[in-house]
Amino acid sequence: MITRLIDYLNQSVTAYHAVLTAEATLKSNGFIQLDEKDAWDLKANLKYYVIRSQSALAAWQMSNGDTPGVRLVGAHTDSPGLHLKPKPQYSNSGYVQLGVEVYGGPLLASWTDRDLSLAGRVILKEGGKLKVVPFKSEKVLLRIPQLAIHLNREVNEKGLMLNKQNHMPPILALESKDGVSVDAGLIGKLIAETLKVGIDDIASWQLECYDTQPATTSGLNDEFIVSGRIDNLTMCHASIQALTSSEFSAPQTAMVALFDNEEIGSSTENGAASGFIRDIITRVVGSDESNHMTQRALAHSACISADGAHAIHPNYAEFHDPQHAVKMNRGPVIKRNVNHRYATSAFTSAIFEQLCKDVDVPVQHYVHKTDLPCGSTIGPITATGLGIPVVDVGNAMLSMHSIRETAGVKDHEMMIKVLERFFTKEDLVSLS
Ligand code: ZN
Repeated sequence: MITRLIDYLNQSVTAYHAVLTAEATLKSNGFIQLDEKDAWDLKANLKYYVIRSQSALAAWQMSNGDTPGVRLVGAHTDSPGLHLKPKPQYSNSGYVQLGVEVYGGPLLASWTDRDLSLAGRVILKEGGKLKVVPFKSEKVLLRIPQLAIHLNREVNEKGLMLNKQNHMPPILALESKDGVSVDAGLIGKLIAETLKVGIDDIASWQLECYDTQPATTSGLNDEFIVSGRIDNLTMCHASIQALTSSEFSAPQTAMVALFDNEEIGSSTENGAASGFIRDIITRVVGSDESNHMTQRALAHSACISADGAHAIHPNYAEFHDPQHAVKMNRGPVIKRNVNHRYATSAFTSAIFEQLCKDVDVPVQHYVHKTDLPCGSTIGPITATGLGIPVVDVGNAMLSMHSIRETAGVKDHEMMIKVLERFFTKEDLVSLS
């Protein structure tokens, strides 16, 4: 399973690629693609998926019978990083550099001195229409060099201070030696060469930097997985695996939602704050408004929101609540926050704990240290938007929002087992 996760991480260098990679798994497991623009004729027990705006996806298996409602697992496809500005190229001190905007909250220092490249999506003009295609350069193209310690003597004592505008633009090339600026259309040329299209065929593009170093296991006993985008592609992968790894009969509709734009607040047309999943649920349960089908289905529904959890850091143990320090490879983590930065309630916590117990998986509990502001995720947004009970869970990880994050290998398999149980258990509130 960990090899499959490594493949998923390596292929999914942007949110767009994460959806394409998930789609390939769904297709090979008999899921049928639907278009939101078409009329749907859904059948019991069949499996479907929808992609919205290229970077969010809903996939589901229809329920086997009469129990209404949806068992929803939510995760997000996006990761913090550096995105190219629309007119990125400029010359500076003999170098060609690319202007970048910072997407979400990356640990900026981790992006320095890495072998970076470019990926994203390109809009092509084709037969009088616009067409979106994936783009990924395999070549190491970019680097954000740190200043030498001889020029920044106090960096180890005072920390690396990075100004987003001045210090993050990567270097793409050297200017030509006669001092004349190189062609101003280098990105257009790169796209045209990589996709084998003419420059005039390119209508627009959206590109971001990615780390070319592949994911790998590490540690003396291969207990860790290290990669970019562990937050939150590991949970995208776990949820798709749980939905596809075995043929099962779903007591309620089993659904996975992979949202975009969690890292910037989810308020986009395919983020968790959009109507995406409510729209899908309405169409799954039927549009008989006189019978309030959507409302009744939602009243029977529940959601697991799966995202990263902070493992205790041995060098910074004082940043963790000692009673709620979670560890890697000790099982899924239930995240709670009294101010509902996480959506978990005592009730949804109990349901998730029982799911873990059912499949013999240990469970851990995380609460952010009380004197630190707590992060959030799609859980509270989903609970607000759908009005259904949500539990926020995740696997323990280190260096969240670094270009290279670390998680536990065993936790991944355990999470998949629990999510499978969520989809297949006859009655969620029954105790064993
Ligand atoms: Zn996340």
